[in-house]
Amino acid sequence: MTQLAPADRSGGFIAGEWFANGDETFHRTNPADTSEQTGPYLLTSAADVERAVTTAEAAASAWGRTTPRERSEVLLAAAELIRKRRDVVAADLTREVGKTLAEARAEVAAGADTLTFYAGAGTWLPGGRVAESLRDRGRVLFTRSYPHGVVAIITPWNFPFSNPCIKLAAALTTGNCVVWKPAPWSPATALHLTAILDEAGAPTGVVNTVLGGAAAGEQLVGDERVGAVTFTGSTQTGRRIAGLVAARGAAAQMEMGGKNAVVVLPDADLETAARDVAAGAFLFAGQKCSAVSRVLVHNAVRARFQDLLIEATENLVLGDPRTDDTDVGPVVHERQLDRHLAAIDTARRSPGELLAGGKRANGPLRKGLYLAPTVLADLPADAPMHCEEVFGPVLAISSVADSANAITEVNRTPYGLAGAVYTHNQAEAWRFIDGCQTGTVKVNEPPVGLEPHVPTGGWKQSGLGQPELGPASLEFFTRSKTVYFNHGAL
Ligand code: NAD
Repeated sequence: MTQLAPADRSGGFIAGEWFANGDETFHRTNPADTSEQTGPYLLTSAADVERAVTTAEAAASAWGRTTPRERSEVLLAAAELIRKRRDVVAADLTREVGKTLAEARAEVAAGADTLTFYAGAGTWLPGGRVAESLRDRGRVLFTRSYPHGVVAIITPWNFPFSNPCIKLAAALTTGNCVVWKPAPWSPATALHLTAILDEAGAPTGVVNTVLGGAAAGEQLVGDERVGAVTFTGSTQTGRRIAGLVAARGAAAQMEMGGKNAVVVLPDADLETAARDVAAGAFLFAGQKCSAVSRVLVHNAVRARFQDLLIEATENLVLGDPRTDDTDVGPVVHERQLDRHLAAIDTARRSPGELLAGGKRANGPLRKGLYLAPTVLADLPADAPMHCEEVFGPVLAISSVADSANAITEVNRTPYGLAGAVYTHNQAEAWRFIDGCQTGTVKVNEPPVGLEPHVPTGGWKQSGLGQPELGPASLEFFTRSKTVYFNHGAL
């Protein structure tokens, strides 16, 4: 058994101290080779989750009164440490969730960039709007922004480093203290980031990390002292948490699941579109919230596009994510693999055709949770595969008669995370941008990938509350106060 984190970092981090002892433990299985386990990790007890909030509350006043520059220094130092430790963190990330090393390194580097970006937020924090009174020359009106105090951060396993970096950086730069509950399938990655923030100079109590699952999460979001809850994960969990948070009147930001479609119109560059769709659907085994799970192709180019798509899919190397030439690694957990196989099985029992994959890999890859990139064609419009999130390496292809038909099909799902269109026709591109009911729309590129300075949030069942990234995260993590200042001068 490999011990990933240093021995004194197998548990959570509260009040500036690592947990080294605990009654309940858990292990993590390497999805690339299920004979390898890491751990044990210590589950944070209910009493310690409570203590984490108490600690954050005690630290909130002092941290909230630091200057933006002081907070910026912590984030910049953390970004520097992340860059230095990129390969070590990425190796652990890969071992926990099966992302290829190249993608894991890129994710860790993106985390550093996000911290750097929010380190500069001091000059564009919300607040500061100044207005003259309409009624009295002796009065001036302005707004100031204040942190919530204690915020809870709940994150998924699929971007276990970069997603928490967004939330932690925005929460900290606005002066909040944090209790973070990472996903239980990626504990070592979370402990690396916690250690980095500690070493970068986050004062005692400002960053607290608790390890646990739904029970710890519910305790945290239900705590009256937590002023705001930010969550990324499945729609089912997000809606449950949003209900709990709304019931006690705190702020909630939910980034949830997706069922993302790409539309390919007749004038598109078909080679590029096919390569992008295959990569968008299958890299990281389709386990990105913005992964492509449906491709809707205009009748006029369907046959040619389909050939190119299958070729691009077959060119992807399925293998151990620690090996350089691997494109697609395993799925994260046995439970997910079983679900994906069941979803494929259901799809195969309805009209339609299996064009690629559909099976667990055999031979040497049987040691891990490898599912061959799967393409299903021409399923009924209302098939579950067209409407429900699978979150695995499964893509459905179907034909559309025109762009209006394509937009109707894109919007058929209850999700609204991301969509993309491939066309060089400006009018068609704008029609898609306006008609696609998703929080992010891309033209001539796959829906995956985000930049830190522009807000993004899901529509419909993919998001709730303030979008994330850019200034939107700063708005979410602050409360606005309006001041009527009667200075009496005329
Ligand atoms: P999940 O909903 O199972 O878990 C997410 C987090 O919530 C984990 O930390 C989990 O322990 C915690 N949790 C679970 N039940 C809880 C409860 N009752 N109360 C409080 N916390 C609870 O999601 P996951 O499987 O970790 O992640 C995959 C999902 O995340 C997919 O649906 C994917 O689309 C979505 N996702 C969305 C985005 C986005 O930006 N919209 C980004 C990444 C992932």
